[in-house]
Amino acid sequence: MYSFQDLGGDSITLKPEGTAPVCRAYIQHGMANLPQPVRLFYENPHFRYERPQAGRVRQHHQFGVEIIGDPSPQVDAEVIELGWTYLSSLGLQGLTLKINSIGDSECRPAYMELLGTYLAEHESSICEDHQKRYKTNPLRVLDCKKRSCLSVSAEAPSSVDHLCDACREHFEGLRSTLDDLVEAGAMAPYTVDNRLVRGLDYYNRTVFEFEPTEEKSQSTLLGGGRYDPLIEILGGKPTPGIGFGSGVERVMLNLKAQGIEVPAARPLDIICVHVGDNARRKLIILAATLRAAGKSVIVASEGRSMKSQMRYANNSGARYALILGDRDLEQGEATLRPLTTDAPEKQVALDAAAIATEVT
Ligand SMILES: [Zn+2]
Ligand SMILES: [Zn+2]
Repeated sequence: MYSFQDLGGDSITLKPEGTAPVCRAYIQHGMANLPQPVRLFYENPHFRYERPQAGRVRQHHQFGVEIIGDPSPQVDAEVIELGWTYLSSLGLQGLTLKINSIGDSECRPAYMELLGTYLAEHESSICEDHQKRYKTNPLRVLDCKKRSCLSVSAEAPSSVDHLCDACREHFEGLRSTLDDLVEAGAMAPYTVDNRLVRGLDYYNRTVFEFEPTEEKSQSTLLGGGRYDPLIEILGGKPTPGIGFGSGVERVMLNLKAQGIEVPAARPLDIICVHVGDNARRKLIILAATLRAAGKSVIVASEGRSMKSQMRYANNSGARYALILGDRDLEQGEATLRPLTTDAPEKQVALDAAAIATEVT
């Protein structure tokens, strides 16, 4: 984490992830009183103190969603499907989806013990780092990418084989919903991966990750899971939740690697160019009506020459200039000039609906 002492001597940590703050906000703002579940998203900077390298920067950005207040596996499937839709709609190819269930406080202790016993039997094959630490958190050996640990985790007992009845039923519910979605072509197929555990302690039951097919370590594009204990840990009433987070810089690296052009932001539709005060007043009202109809419109600034307004319009990237002089005003017409195509300009009635039909 990116922690430091401020000038007053207080210990400060910059926000390392998105889920806990969203749950804090859920509690603080009484969202438990809203109809449940509550669906939220965030897109903001997160921080970690580490050596910057390709795809890993100290200030990175994360996009994430959370569904709080519904324990059913249907919302797990909804969140996973949303993650798939997000990544695939960017044009990313060859995504793989891994899911797993890591149980809950009912069944995980017995599984951890079993895993601990198995790891103790194979202690000499575990990587040096985890030889020291596997006793306190045996799950971390499962997502270790070092070859020695990989050879051990391949044969390790799976959490899905040791779930309690409630967790097994939940996981089966998730799988059958995902199977329906895959069959309907709404989502890519998935695999159950017993090594998938996610790094944070507040996860339970469902965990999942999307990776690009080009397998590189630490290449997760989007990952998440269920965190039913978290809101209670933070001081709220017991409330189930599930969500995902996706690193924006990581996604951008993969878009580049696959040669995918990021679409430009939607250009401005219209810049209104005016000659004379009355024309400008008329355009201010017309612009407001066009905005209400869903068009993006700017009226060029007061007191500038027609030439200067047109230069501004051309530099803005706007698709059309709507040009109105005081004489046009008398005739109830304006000129609509395309700026980004060779199409000829047109006379249009001073009517928002008529102009909106021309600017599609
Ligand atoms: Zn290891
Ligand atoms: Zn369980």
